[in-house]
Amino acid sequence: MIISNEKIDTRKLQKAEKIITALQHELKTHIKEGSGPFLAAIYDENDNLIAKAANSVVSQKCSHNHAEMNTIKAAEQALNTYDLSSYNLRIYVTAEPCIMCLGGIMWSGIKEVYYGVSSKKVEEITGFDEGFKPDWLEEFARRGITVYGQIAEHEGEEVLKEYVTSGKTIYKLER
Ligand SMILES: [Zn+2]
Repeated sequence: MIISNEKIDTRKLQKAEKIITALQHELKTHIKEGSGPFLAAIYDENDNLIAKAANSVVSQKCSHNHAEMNTIKAAEQALNTYDLSSYNLRIYVTAEPCIMCLGGIMWSGIKEVYYGVSSKKVEEITGFDEGFKPDWLEEFARRGITVYGQIAEHEGEEVLKEYVTSGKTIYKLER
């Protein structure tokens, strides 16, 4: 079921369904090439694609390199700024942002967040630890950041299940 921190706008939701479904499809290629299993894209207010990137933690040996963080960094480099606020950008991501990526999004100035699979489902399917995020939709609303979640969840869950059954790395810390 779709969740949001604003009254659901069908136009925004339909656009997000289209983009996230395409990202889930494209994610399969990234997984085959050794990245993923998450993919994010940032668009501007005129629907121009500004940046797109998959998770590259394993391939680049960096724990920060989640899809959202990689995409935000690429967008900031493309626009030559650390503050994206004035560009009215939207981020689309194949799964709910983790504790780190929520921070990254908050610090970037992105205005709208759209995600696929919920963290609860990601954790159930893959075993990744998405962190603790109390009331984050409300907290983002307080900061003027719109959030829509659980978009095209079925497609997203299938891709994550494929990632797990294909024997790819579920990276975890040796706690
Ligand atoms: Zn993350």
